Amino acid sequence: MSTGEQARLEARIDLAAVRSNVRRMREVAGPAQVMAVVKADAYGHGMVPCARAAVEAGATWLGTALPEEALALRAAGLSVPILTWLHAPGDPFRELIAADVDVSISGLWALGEVVEAVRAGGRPARIQLKADTGLGRNGAQPHDWPLLVEEAVKAQKDGLVTVTGLWSHFACADEPTHPSVAAQLTAYREALEIAERAGLRPEVRHIANSPAALLLPESHYDLVRSGLATYGVSPAPEEGSAADFGLRPAMTLVGRLALVKLVESGHGVSYGHTYHTTRRTRLGLVPAGYADGIPRAASSCGPVWIDGVRHTIAGRVAMDQFVVDLGDQEAGVGDEVVLFGPGDRGEPTAQDWAEKTGTIAYEIVTRIGPRVPRVYLNASAVL
Ligand SMILES: *Cc1c(COP(=O)(O)O)cnc(C)c1O
Repeated sequence: MSTGEQARLEARIDLAAVRSNVRRMREVAGPAQVMAVVKADAYGHGMVPCARAAVEAGATWLGTALPEEALALRAAGLSVPILTWLHAPGDPFRELIAADVDVSISGLWALGEVVEAVRAGGRPARIQLKADTGLGRNGAQPHDWPLLVEEAVKAQKDGLVTVTGLWSHFACADEPTHPSVAAQLTAYREALEIAERAGLRPEVRHIANSPAALLLPESHYDLVRSGLATYGVSPAPEEGSAADFGLRPAMTLVGRLALVKLVESGHGVSYGHTYHTTRRTRLGLVPAGYADGIPRAASSCGPVWIDGVRHTIAGRVAMDQFVVDLGDQEAGVGDEVVLFGPGDRGEPTAQDWAEKTGTIAYEIVTRIGPRVPRVYLNASAVL
């Protein structure tokens, strides 16, 4: 139904679901702590409101990829420990140190820039050393690890840094029997031993992302980094649904019909005429397109739900709009079109969209763009 207040397309974010997911991850991971990973605007859900909800529910750390994300959390008044891990030369290390943000170090260049920033700024930096235990992405290789550890120990002795963490990241935690999982755990133990022999006693050792938190208890160590699970979407759909893991999707993406019209049989629909009506029917126009983050790959396959009835997108998704063949449904202008949500009313989920469009649910929620207002439900009275 049209409310007059509802945007053409909006992402409703249920902060009670975020809180409940964080509590669930604490239950799963305990006694390990939970870091809520809020990078990329909290996977499209809105960074600051989600970070507040996560902290309220007991997340004791926040994690971001980029320094500016960490600084924005501090600017918003979040005071729990924050780790930021994707750095490039020239990053604002002085600001990060001044804001008491833990900086991840994967190579000597980064340690060098941090030490330089400390010398210029005056207070010791909190750093976490990252080992590449087999992912082959960020982190120091085993042959570079001893030197990185040694240099960090020196800087710590000089009072320039405190090594607060030793950490790594899995390649295949969503496939717990994949041989790389055991190999990475072994490599991680070896990296920890080297660091401990060199005298490092960090506050936190961590390797688990949300699939590992849910599926690999032996990977929990002191802290698990919960990204997708925080938002209630299954990070390992082959192993279990969100409900199987006790999680609830937080985002519901809702548009509204902008036009409903009768057309004849055989009418082409949208660019390229990849869809033709097969009878006299009513078409509904949904003002949501790839500029909003709706994948163009959802053309003729993306599922939507209108007042209890599922439909498939008819023809191409355009930049700002797509069309649904309403068939016999008596839908009218202003009616809600649910693209995805928790799924319990029968609406599609982000996981359904991922399967239809050949991607993962991470991408479906994260790509919802800045044109789409976030509307927060169940914000706590406290924060
Ligand atoms: C994104 C990210 C996470 C969170 O992963 P999920 O699978 O969403 O839980 C954890 N650690 C690192 C290094 C990441 O980049």
